Amino acid sequence: ATLSVASILAESAVRHADRPAFHFAGGTTTYRELWDQTRAYAGALRARGIGRGDRVAMLVPNVPDFARVYYAALSLGAIVVPVHLLFKADEIAYVLRDSGADVLVAAAPLLGEAVPAATAAGVPLVTVLLPADAGVDLPRLEAEAAAAAPLARHESVSPLDAATILYTSGTTGTPKGAVGSHLSIVEQVHTTLIDAFDLGPDDIVFGGLPLFHTFGQTAVMNIALRVGASVILLPRFDADEALALTTALGATVFTAVPTMYVGILEAARRSPARPPLRYAVSGGAALPVAVLEAFRDAFDADVHEGYGLTETAPTVSSNPLHQPIRPGTVGRALWGVDVAIADPDIEESVVLLDEPDALGEIVVRGHNLFKGYLGRADASAAAVVDGWFRTGDLGTYADGVLTIVDRKKDMIVRSGYNVYPTEVEAVLARHPGVSLAAVFGVADDVRGQEVHAAVVAHDGVDLDPAEVVAFVRDRIAAYKYPRVVHVVPSLPLGSSGKVLKRELVAQHSPVA
Ligand code: ATP
Repeated sequence: ATLSVASILAESAVRHADRPAFHFAGGTTTYRELWDQTRAYAGALRARGIGRGDRVAMLVPNVPDFARVYYAALSLGAIVVPVHLLFKADEIAYVLRDSGADVLVAAAPLLGEAVPAATAAGVPLVTVLLPADAGVDLPRLEAEAAAAAPLARHESVSPLDAATILYTSGTTGTPKGAVGSHLSIVEQVHTTLIDAFDLGPDDIVFGGLPLFHTFGQTAVMNIALRVGASVILLPRFDADEALALTTALGATVFTAVPTMYVGILEAARRSPARPPLRYAVSGGAALPVAVLEAFRDAFDADVHEGYGLTETAPTVSSNPLHQPIRPGTVGRALWGVDVAIADPDIEESVVLLDEPDALGEIVVRGHNLFKGYLGRADASAAAVVDGWFRTGDLGTYADGVLTIVDRKKDMIVRSGYNVYPTEVEAVLARHPGVSLAAVFGVADDVRGQEVHAAVVAHDGVDLDPAEVVAFVRDRIAAYKYPRVVHVVPSLPLGSSGKVLKRELVAQHSPVA
């Protein structure tokens, strides 16, 4: 009865009571404090009528209150709906309506968007972290918690009950709510701990990802709290701050997306600070081998790349610890997670390609799969076919090692030839003057699509676009190299730190 996400914190509050759960700008929270504050919030939410199956939407940055609200809702058997921190009022209102939210818990810095959204959707709003002198008259969860009886123990749930509704960021249309169960998350935590991570109470984990996203939420917070490790929280990722803070606190594990590794490497050129890392973990987007090597040189730690999605809670595969890493691959499938390669062009059924070197769409099945997209039978049926989840990613799976080639939708077709941006980006990452690169296709009358690259130079380096084109041309087949290189000060990044390619395409497309 306790196979629930809330039991992660409830159990650690007993086993690791006085150890730090979070390090953050204002100090440290121990497991006991965190659980007590969580039970207090749960009491307040219960007094508001929240119970099993109700939906608690939350808009909270990476501060300990994220965990308090998250585990408070879960310990009542309610479903958490963490909202994307960059969403504007209309987008938040959409999520509130679509998820059938019963309450929105919003942190003070986000009230500008949260208040109009809650009003528009007709959902009650309660604040956290609202300063006493803010001069705003809105309900406060802290005050309600002080007046209510704390929850004594977390409610029991059924493992297949919904625990989270995580909205896809909508690169492919309107955001869809992926429903995750307690089983998918708890199993994921345990399997990852056995197969991919070696994490214990002495570890201090830095997670660069926002906690509303599956990577930060489960691959960092849930997994670290399960074993009594402590997590370093930064409300907003900043590479220099991350480097200074992880060094000061003695971080042993670093988890981030590739653009954050690039940022940290830039910061490491400016500062001698180095945390005592045992290892690092990357996921969410392709990690160029050049970045992995530069990180190993600068930090004396291997980066273990993994692969995952919101719909798979999240990890599908990873380069396991204590085994030689295979740079450029995303390693082995986790225990109980089946991976196969399917024909990407046949949509009505999953036709597996069993030749060892087959390149096709990666499909996944296992305990970590989501329950479907909330209220979208059609999208769910298109995503899970014959029991397999279609990831939309292209790759190969040979000798039990998974390699991501690219996203189906990012593939460029130039004059009938397929160009995979990830491969070209890996070459650009080898250029000594290039810090960050993104390759994308721009509509072209003659060739269908043309290959463009946007590159950011290292601090103080003056990049010549023609020289960058020539550098890639010398190292890759003629149809693949970018014909146009844009040297830009920065790339558009989503709040999970991934490059927003659709924005690059829009910026650099000829005006129709
Ligand atoms: P959206 O919300 O628009 O669907 P998204 O596709 O980024 O955004 P996520 O669930 O955050 O959704 O990310 C999953 C995707 O991230 C995968 O489908 C894959 O394309 C990419 N990805 C994750 N890990 C890796 C990796 N190691 N290498 C390459 N791509 C990766």
